[in-house]
Amino acid sequence: MNTAINNPLLNDKHQELRLQVREFAVNEIKPLAQKLDENAEFSPELTRKMGKLGLFGMTIPAEYGGKNLDTLSYIIAVEELARVDSSQAATIAAHNSLGISPIYKYGTPDLKNRFLPKLTTGEHLWAFGLTEPNAGSDAKAVETKAVLNNNQWIVNGKKVFITNSASELSMGVTVLVNTSTDPDQKEFSAILLEREPANYKTESIKNKMVWRSADTGRLSFIDSVASKENILGERGKGMHIMLETLDSGRLSIAAIGLGLAQGAFDMAREHAQKRKQFGKSLSKFQAISDKLADMDIKLELARNYLYNTCWLKDNNLPFTKQAAISKFYTSEIAKEIADEAVQIFGAYGLFKDNDIERFYRDQRILRIGEGTSEILKLVISKHIEI
Ligand SMILES: Cc1cc2nc3c(=O)[nH]c(=O)nc-3n(C[C@H](O)[C@H](O)[C@H](O)COP(=O)(O)OP(=O)(O)OC[C@H]3O[C@@H](n4cnc5c(N)ncnc54)[C@H](O)[C@@H]3O)c2cc1C
Repeated sequence: MNTAINNPLLNDKHQELRLQVREFAVNEIKPLAQKLDENAEFSPELTRKMGKLGLFGMTIPAEYGGKNLDTLSYIIAVEELARVDSSQAATIAAHNSLGISPIYKYGTPDLKNRFLPKLTTGEHLWAFGLTEPNAGSDAKAVETKAVLNNNQWIVNGKKVFITNSASELSMGVTVLVNTSTDPDQKEFSAILLEREPANYKTESIKNKMVWRSADTGRLSFIDSVASKENILGERGKGMHIMLETLDSGRLSIAAIGLGLAQGAFDMAREHAQKRKQFGKSLSKFQAISDKLADMDIKLELARNYLYNTCWLKDNNLPFTKQAAISKFYTSEIAKEIADEAVQIFGAYGLFKDNDIERFYRDQRILRIGEGTSEILKLVISKHIEI
């Protein structure tokens, strides 16, 4: 097993954390991943175990039950989970960067005290609901409406494809809603909606090609209620909050891409060493060692760029453009490396009992979720003087 990942930004604590998460992923996740994928089954037990390992609220201060770690630590953890199974990585990534982080960053002291200690235990997940049937890339097309009535928000509308929103562990969702009182105007706010008691309808979406053992839900709000105080930041600032949250979310998706690509590379390299044709290992053919070299180049570049972007975030420097580049590039190399890995496996890569088949499917979401590659190019181009 290749554990020697070196980068000037990594300290001993990062290296220890990598080994700890890698050991957990190999021992606890790997034996279950294929079956969970086949059954499209989200595992609450496995999720609780990831919580016990300390993967819920990794960057949140200890007073709320978090681990108070830097962004790079969190990214390494997501990378190591994805090296074995993208679904579990997605569960942790969505909970930390989309669920918990905006509550910590924009919540009042009261909201933080009410929600965060529960969300760092490993018993509860929180979701982030931006996407709607008519609002994907175009976030301003959000139609879900919230009206203030007697100190309560009354919410009506629908959200789709929401990670961590429909399993038994899901405690609630931050929704982007229109709070304008003028029917001809839109004013976006971010509101925390608790699931219980039967506050909204949830439905698990099962027929996915990707992340089959992560929980993806469809939500319907019919006069769902939230107290007036359950608003993040100021009324009307929801779009800004959601877009800032997505900047960090893109680092998580980049980490999933990097981990998936590393896992695919590791599997392909091992197979190339073991499999013999024409009397020698596949890895001894230059066409195959070239492929492995190309993969390694891409992994090094993607990892260094992602880690540098984490450094920018941890040092409170702007990182919107770098997060977009990181997600764009990493999702591209995940596609290329998974594809070449299947090529190295030959026919053996085309069967479901080989993990590479799952990796090949799972990379497909990376160029779509949390900003499609086309939208990322728009984000990047806005930072270039053209
Ligand atoms: C498994 C899964 C989990 C998800 N989890 C969440 C979640 O937790 N929370 C959440 O809110 N959402 C979630 N999503 C939704 C995801 O973020 C959206 O699918 C994504 O933002 C793209 O929206 P869309 O699918 O509606 O595509 P569309 O916006 O309809 O885009 C379709 C195509 O048109 C292109 N396009 C659109 N507009 C432009 C333009 N202006 N210029 C050029 N090209 C354009 C796109 O790039 C894309 O290629 C999830 C999706 C999946 C599949």
